[in-house]
Formats: sequence, structure tokens, C-alpha cells
Amino acid sequence: MDCLFCKIAAGEIPSQKVYEDEEILAFRDIAPMAPVHILVIPKAHIGSVDEITPENSNLVAHIFQVIPQIARAEKLEKGYRVVSNCGEHAGQSVHHLHFHILGGRQLSLEMA
Ligand code: 5GP
Ligand code: ZN
Repeated sequence: MDCLFCKIAAGEIPSQKVYEDEEILAFRDIAPMAPVHILVIPKAHIGSVDEITPENSNLVAHIFQVIPQIARAEKLEKGYRVVSNCGEHAGQSVHHLHFHILGGRQLSLEMA
């Protein structure tokens, strides 16, 4: 399958890794929208939030257990935002589930 984040997960495309274990990977966004902008992905291909099921939701739970560890390591004690764009109206551009961690400055309250 021709999926950018599957290739990053497999190490075929380099990334600036900040966390990795057998199931998930976190790396810096190539076009950061905040001083800290990290993407967290399952290594297994899941297309988006829309494809989360009882069978794969353990990976999502695992990602959300690791996010606070990453936030601590990145010194985001003043707060951060976790975002996942799902589908066309949200502007999802990479169709492999990922959670953005954004922080390091006061973020806009605008959600849409
Ligand atoms: P989306 O728009 O799907 O929510 O987020 C995709 C994100 O992936 C964007 O923020 C974009 O900057 C990032 N991105 C796209 N290609 C690459 C890449 O090759 N490497 C890294 N590290 N990030 C990428
Ligand atoms: Zn993929």
C-alpha cells in the first residue's frame, strides 16, 4: 500500500522520532504549526478515526497513555492540544490515523 505514514513507521522514510515502541511511533511534523508539533501514529495502518473499531481501539488507548509522557518530555506543562483530522471536511491530508500534539505557545481557541 502506498501510504506515507506506513513508510515512516517502517523506517523507509526518515523522521525525527520522539517516541517509539512496538505498536506506535511519534515524530515531529515536517511543517510545524506550533513550537511543538508532534504526530503520533499506530504502526499498523488505520485510515482515520472513522476506522477505529473494538478490534484496534487498544492501539488508540495506548497512544493516549503515551501522549502525556511525550508532553512531559517536551515540557508542555502549560498545556497542549490533541487533534485528529478525519476526512475531507476536516482537511485530512494523510490517510493513516494520526494525532497531532500541538503546544509551546498560547493556542487559538478557534476550533473551526
Ligand atoms: P493532516 O492534515 O492529515 O491532519 O496531517 C498531516 C500532517 O502530516 C501535516 O501536518 C503535515 O505537515 C505532516 N506531514 C506530511 N508529510 C510529512 C512527512 O513526510 N514527514 C513528516 N514528519 N510530517 C509530514
Ligand atoms: Zn498507513
